[in-house]
Amino acid sequence: MAELTVNELKSRINEIEERISNACLRSGRNREDVRLIAVTKTHPVETLQNAYELGLRCFGENKVQEITSKIPELPADISWHLIGHLQRNKVKMIVKDVEMIHSVDSLRLAEAIEKEAAKIDRVIPVLIEVNVAEEESKFGVKLSETKELVREAAKLPHLHISGLMTIAPNVSDPEENRPVFKKLRELLVDIRNENIDNVNMSALSMGMSGDFEVAIEEGATMVRVGSSIFGMRDYSRK
Ligand SMILES: *Cc1c(COP(=O)(O)O)cnc(C)c1O
Repeated sequence: MAELTVNELKSRINEIEERISNACLRSGRNREDVRLIAVTKTHPVETLQNAYELGLRCFGENKVQEITSKIPELPADISWHLIGHLQRNKVKMIVKDVEMIHSVDSLRLAEAIEKEAAKIDRVIPVLIEVNVAEEESKFGVKLSETKELVREAAKLPHLHISGLMTIAPNVSDPEENRPVFKKLRELLVDIRNENIDNVNMSALSMGMSGDFEVAIEEGATMVRVGSSIFGMRDYSRK
């Protein structure tokens, strides 16, 4: 599949913006309280540059190699989010450049981030990835194990626990994921009420192309949208 032209990209972005705004309106939320993370994985830097020129400033990638090769090619005021599974031995490659890591799913990974963040004297915001639906194919901790991981990771001074993230199941009707989003939001509130030091449960990263409107209605503060903006991904190119 060819990359979209600037005009195509422009109308897609406008459409997504409108859908986000409408979901906010429907649920009595402010547009500023929901951040659009444009998921740019597999797309070339030219497409990212076009998206930047059309006003997008927040990009999500799921592979360390890909994000580190794109960052130096693009404007410095982009906020980069690592949204995919992270291996401990690759933490050092991204810890300086990403604004947030969405995919912390073990204490061992949290400790690896702590070690590298300490070396560069940075406190890095992270989200705990929760496998709400307990799908075998997905990374993430179980709902029932999340609090314990938050408590342990909160002791690491170079991490700042900023909230929770989930990748909901791939479903045909987005309404099917409403209970998943609701559960994550309830867990967030539950943990917030414990007032754990170094934990600020404010971010809820949930909702993708197929279900971001439902996620917003259920309290998402960050939606990760890829194919609805950039078209289908071609994994053979690279
Ligand atoms: C690819 C990806 C997305 C975006 O998926 P779309 O369905 O294309 O919007 C969101 N989150 C994560 C973690 C991803 O890997």
